[in-house]
Amino acid sequence: MKLVAATGNRNKLREMREILAGHEVLSAKEAGFEGDVEETGKTFLENALLKAHAVASRTGLPALADDSGLCVEALGGAPGIYSARYSGGGDAENRALLLRNLAGKGDRRAYFACAVALVFPDGRELCAEGRAYGTITEEERGGGGFGYDPLFLSDDLGVTFAEASEEEKNAVSHRGRALSNLVKLL
Ligand code: IMP
Repeated sequence: MKLVAATGNRNKLREMREILAGHEVLSAKEAGFEGDVEETGKTFLENALLKAHAVASRTGLPALADDSGLCVEALGGAPGIYSARYSGGGDAENRALLLRNLAGKGDRRAYFACAVALVFPDGRELCAEGRAYGTITEEERGGGGFGYDPLFLSDDLGVTFAEASEEEKNAVSHRGRALSNLVKLL
């Protein structure tokens, strides 16, 4: 199937292409979609659906969108849907703020959550979700990945997502699990 990835994030696009090998995954730009869709939803799934509907109706192709974030138990689930905008700065500032907010806290359990939505031009929707559980480290470990990866010690892997190879991360990640759940529905 030919579909459009409704994301401007190159890391996510690469992960989607790897996991959906066998399908032709165009970037939004390649499909002629420029610009951002405002993430005004209250849940990961609402935001994924907003993005996928916008791109499917503008490009006339099935559109795949994801919305994801890090939910930290001791912070009541924050940063959650605000993960990308947590500090108002970039990834490094977000990680620094997370470490500051967790300073002195004993409970460092967290999970990454991901919702994916595949929306067809006629409006039909397929949705799936995935989670990856772990703990937040005291300091950054590893040079791979993006976002909060250097701080996320995966329960499945025993290393941080930034220390794991892409294949290892995709096999257990929230996005990998959400996408393979979606593939099962396809
Ligand atoms: P989104 O683009 O609105 O889905 O925001 C996702 C944000 O959550 C990213 O900017 C990261 O801060 C964080 N995030 C989501 N998935 C991952 C991941 O696999 N590794 C590290 N950070 C992630």
